[in-house]
Amino acid sequence: MTSSSQAHTGQTPAPSAEAEALHRALFTLDSHIDIPWPDRGDAFEDTDARRVDLPKMKKGGMSAGCFVAYIAQAKVDAEGHAQAQAQCLAMLDVINGMQGSQNGVTARVCSTVTEIEAAHKAGVLAVIPAVENGYAMGDDPAVLAQFRAKGARYVTLTHNGHNALADAAVHRPSLGDKPENHGGLSALGREAVRHMNRLGLLIDVSHASKKTMLQAVAASAVPVVASHSCVRTLCDHPRNLDDEQLDALKASGGVIQITAMPAFLKPRDGEAPRSAGVADFVDHIDYVVRRIGVEHVGISSDFDGGGALADWQNATQGVNLTAELLRRGYDRSEIAAFWGGNFMRLLGQAEAVAEQTGTIG
Ligand SMILES: [Zn+2]
Repeated sequence: MTSSSQAHTGQTPAPSAEAEALHRALFTLDSHIDIPWPDRGDAFEDTDARRVDLPKMKKGGMSAGCFVAYIAQAKVDAEGHAQAQAQCLAMLDVINGMQGSQNGVTARVCSTVTEIEAAHKAGVLAVIPAVENGYAMGDDPAVLAQFRAKGARYVTLTHNGHNALADAAVHRPSLGDKPENHGGLSALGREAVRHMNRLGLLIDVSHASKKTMLQAVAASAVPVVASHSCVRTLCDHPRNLDDEQLDALKASGGVIQITAMPAFLKPRDGEAPRSAGVADFVDHIDYVVRRIGVEHVGISSDFDGGGALADWQNATQGVNLTAELLRRGYDRSEIAAFWGGNFMRLLGQAEAVAEQTGTIG
C-alpha cells in the first residue's frame, strides 16, 4: 500500500498523465479554506490575491470546498460574543453568495451529502459553509441553529485561545487564559456538542486541546473531524494529534484531514527557513494509514488561512498530491477516500443522527 517515504529532494516531478486523468475523474474535496475578510466580492475572479477562488478550483479539478467563517478569538464577554456572532453570520452570508455562474464557472452552495453529490454529478463546484471557532455562538447554543440554517456543516470548537466552550491547544495569556480554563469541554461546550449532533453539524476538533478533543470524541453521538491538523509524532506541534488521539479517532470512526501548514508538517531544521512539500504532507497521510487505517484520513489546505506548500500553492495544484499518492502505491479507491470519501461519510453520519433526533434545521 505504501512504499514508505524516500528522502525528499524538494523537487517535484511533473504529474504523470495517469495522475492528471485520475485527479480529474475523482471527487475532490478540500475541508478547510478561509475567505478574505472584509469580503472583496472576488470569489468568481481568478485573482492573485486568493489561493482559492472558484476559477482556480475549476482549473485545478477540485470538486468541493469547505469555506469557513473564521472568527478570531477575543475577550470572552458579552460584547465579544455579540461581535463574533454578527461577524460569523455576515461571513456565512458571503459564503452563501458564492453560487451561480460567472466568468465561465458555476458553483452551488451545498449543505447536504445529496446536494454535494448532485452538484458534482452536474459538473458544478460545491461550496460547503462551515464555522471556525465556537466563540461565534457565545454562550447561547441556540445560535448554532442559525449557523446550520445558513448551510454550515461543521463548527471548530475553538481557535487559538480558550473560549466559553472549551480549552484550545494553544492558550493566550494576553486574553487572560491559564494553561487550562475548563480542563477540556465546559458544561456549555457539552451542551453545544449535543446541539450540534441534533443539527447535523460536525464537531471539528482542530485547534482544541488534547483533553477537549478526547472529551468531544466521547461526548459526541457522531464521529468527530479534525478539519485541518497533522500528526504530532512526525512534528511536535501542539496543534497536531498524538497517537492516543489518533487511536481515539479510529475507535470512534472519526477522520483527520491533514493540512498544508509547513509548521505542522516538518520540524524546523536549524535556522533554515521552513518549507514543506506534498511529499511531507503525504508522509503524514502514510503515518495515519499505518496506525489507524485508510478510512480515517483526508485532505485540507488551509489556503487563505496560512496554508501553502512549495508544490501545492493554490487550488490549481492539487494534482501534485494525487500524483504523490499514486507514487506511494495507493490505489484509486484509497485516493478517493482521502480526497473526500471519508469526509463525506462523516457528513452522512451527522445527517443520520440529526434525522433520528428529528430536530434538524
Ligand atoms: Zn485554523
